[in-house]
Amino acid sequence: MKRDYICRDCGIDTNKGKDNFYGVTEELWNKYGVGKGMLCLSCFKKRLGREFTKEDFVPCVLNYKVNPVVKSIVKPTEQEIKALFQSYK
Ligand SMILES: [Zn+2]
Repeated sequence: MKRDYICRDCGIDTNKGKDNFYGVTEELWNKYGVGKGMLCLSCFKKRLGREFTKEDFVPCVLNYKVNPVVKSIVKPTEQEIKALFQSYK
């Protein structure tokens, strides 16, 4: 089965580039997300109706390393990055 990477709100392909790969807390996704579907970062922010904070994002490689936009919001410390990679072992 082909996974659908199309943003449900604006229709862009979230699989292009890195800015739209992110992981928010389950609580936020349940409230503002689209279940198994995808939302680009700016559409999720629109639904959220406020600026993102560090606490909105879960500790994961996408947020801490891959996505430059989220990384600039979270600003993970060396300690947090270390803890993240240790949790994968
Ligand atoms: Zn969108």
